[in-house]
Amino acid sequence: MVSRRARRHGYREAQRLVRLFFNTGIPREYRLRYIEEAYKILLKIRGEKPSLLKLFRCKYCGSPLHPGVNAVYRVRPRPYLHVAVKCLVCGKTYRKGFKSTARR
Ligand SMILES: [Zn+2]
Repeated sequence: MVSRRARRHGYREAQRLVRLFFNTGIPREYRLRYIEEAYKILLKIRGEKPSLLKLFRCKYCGSPLHPGVNAVYRVRPRPYLHVAVKCLVCGKTYRKGFKSTARR
């Protein structure tokens, strides 16, 4: 059981960590740790994981991904508009899709 107060605090903390992840002034090793920590907090308070956080974590091995360093992100138009994510840690490729009906 997680109190409402603890949950709110957790969300704030996770948000802060995600912001730090995108701060390029900090060394990369620390930033990868931040995203890991944010994920752990969110699991603990059983909150929803923000989609951004999910985008920067491997679907298969769970390692934090850093585009251009240990992951390759490509926007692909077919068969539907998606981002192809290749994790260079485990070598798997998967689709991160926005299945939209607006654009055909
Ligand atoms: Zn992986």
